[in-house]
Amino acid sequence: MPRNLRIRVDHDVCVGNAMCEAIAPKVFQLNDNRQSEAVDPGAETLEKILEAAENCPVSAIFVEDADTGEQLFP
Ligand code: SF4
Repeated sequence: MPRNLRIRVDHDVCVGNAMCEAIAPKVFQLNDNRQSEAVDPGAETLEKILEAAENCPVSAIFVEDADTGEQLFP
């Protein structure tokens, strides 16, 4: 069963380069202010979501298991 994820994007540091959106477009979408939002945490595999988080140039993406609170990234 897929994990229930909680994804947070720190808008104080997101620079809106859309790397996360390119890697996991069903989860990350830029809003009108060119800030990434995690619109649907269950829409991509955990692998893709972690790849997006790893490739964020400013480490703005935080991922945890919503059920256990386990921190999955960073
Ligand atoms: S990759 Fe990071 S900096 Fe770029 S849009 Fe996504 S969250 Fe923002």
